[in-house]
Amino acid sequence: MSGLKVFNTLTSKKEDFVPLKAGKVNLYSCGPTVYDLSHLGHARKEINFDVIQRYLRFSGYDLTYVRNITDIDDKIINRAREIDERTEKLARRFTFTFWKDMDALNVAPPDMEPRATEYIKPMMTFVEELIKKGHAYVSEGDVYFDVLSFKSYGKLRKQSIEDLLHGARDQVRSQSELKEIKKNPVDFALWKSAPQSEMGWESPWGWGRPGWHLECSTMIKHALGVTIDIHGGGEDLIFPHHENEIAQSEALHDGESLAKYWLHNSFVQVDAEKMSKSLGNFQTIQSVLANYSPDTVRLFVLQTHYRSPIEFSADSVEAAKAGTARLLRAARFAKDDDAHSSVRNNGKAHKYLTSNHPCLQSLRDDGEAGDVIRKLHADFVESMDNDFNTPQAISALFAVADLIFSSKDENLAAKYAAGLKAYAGVLGLTLTDTGKMIDSDTGAQLVERLLDLRDAARANKDYKQSDQIRDTLQALGIKVMDVKGGRAQWEKE
Ligand SMILES: [Zn+2]
Repeated sequence: MSGLKVFNTLTSKKEDFVPLKAGKVNLYSCGPTVYDLSHLGHARKEINFDVIQRYLRFSGYDLTYVRNITDIDDKIINRAREIDERTEKLARRFTFTFWKDMDALNVAPPDMEPRATEYIKPMMTFVEELIKKGHAYVSEGDVYFDVLSFKSYGKLRKQSIEDLLHGARDQVRSQSELKEIKKNPVDFALWKSAPQSEMGWESPWGWGRPGWHLECSTMIKHALGVTIDIHGGGEDLIFPHHENEIAQSEALHDGESLAKYWLHNSFVQVDAEKMSKSLGNFQTIQSVLANYSPDTVRLFVLQTHYRSPIEFSADSVEAAKAGTARLLRAARFAKDDDAHSSVRNNGKAHKYLTSNHPCLQSLRDDGEAGDVIRKLHADFVESMDNDFNTPQAISALFAVADLIFSSKDENLAAKYAAGLKAYAGVLGLTLTDTGKMIDSDTGAQLVERLLDLRDAARANKDYKQSDQIRDTLQALGIKVMDVKGGRAQWEKE
């Protein structure tokens, strides 16, 4: 169906992308643990996978994209305790801010978004079955996965069990109490016992809560099935999270693989260190969006290939801002009705542009602009088929912007600009002309200034002018109500 190649962490190779069922793709990526505001590193992961899902749909695949919400975790419980808030409420609050951030960044919602707390029963069943099959054991109210029972443990991280054991033994020497509970220091928790006072569930092993790794394995099984096409996440999840997901799922399903392709995006770095909560060097999405447009943030992220680290600095974001402004100036040449990109669609179902969409087809077949649009299409597809090479795809957009600026023919420039907007839309860039949008405060001030002019006209007994101002406002849905002896009131109808 397409010539897409993806770099598979599992094989450390760039491979032809061949889905399990022709034309159909199941994609899962690990979503946020909702205990705080999301930062630019999270934005990068979501933007990268948003582009991957948009491009798969553009290429004609029937895609189901699932991204979970981790709403029960030690981090959430600890934060809730710190600030004296109910655990569930804290998790809901930060789920909501995550959604708001994603919407602001034009990250499309996934097809399914399961929350861990909705899958507690299936998780318990998953653990019970692992115990039955001899891959897990109960110890003092906890349940651990017996890593030695799963022979290919370490295949994603490319480390043998022996090497992992050496490393783990060194670590555990200082925490000797763990030895008592676990058979082996590399064994990881499937179920953790908890005091009754903490958020938890009654299980066959007592009060407790699921381990983090278990939730993804369980939700993938229930939402998508035993084996999925693509599993994704940030590269910090390769070990132990994804390695443990593989161990649990493949042990339960007698060696059936969990995912055919594993895709991992790199970090956002500040001074060569990963941006993270624990290092305290993070920029929240909200703080970045206070200063830069969503398109600027997206261009900043996509100008680097998803597998390379991004160095965050004021200069690098400013460069992205200048680039966005250039694309926006070029896109303004489009006629309004030419915009069939991924502009926000105000509550309607999300529509994705496909390569064979009639609008794109007619642009490529156009007698005048066809050559340029066909070249844009070919360059764009070649870049994106090469393991989602967004920096190269963006170069193709800038090449068209250059042609728009140098074109002497307004009609031709409009067609180029329509193509530019459409292909930029596949990357989730809206190229929305924010320069012509005003916020509600500014709008209210404009109404007040018009009423000042109306007052002045009335003082001069120029009732024609004052009626004109009232009618103009009325036509915009703003009702003006005169008040005897005072300033007129107004309201938006
Ligand atoms: Zn996961």
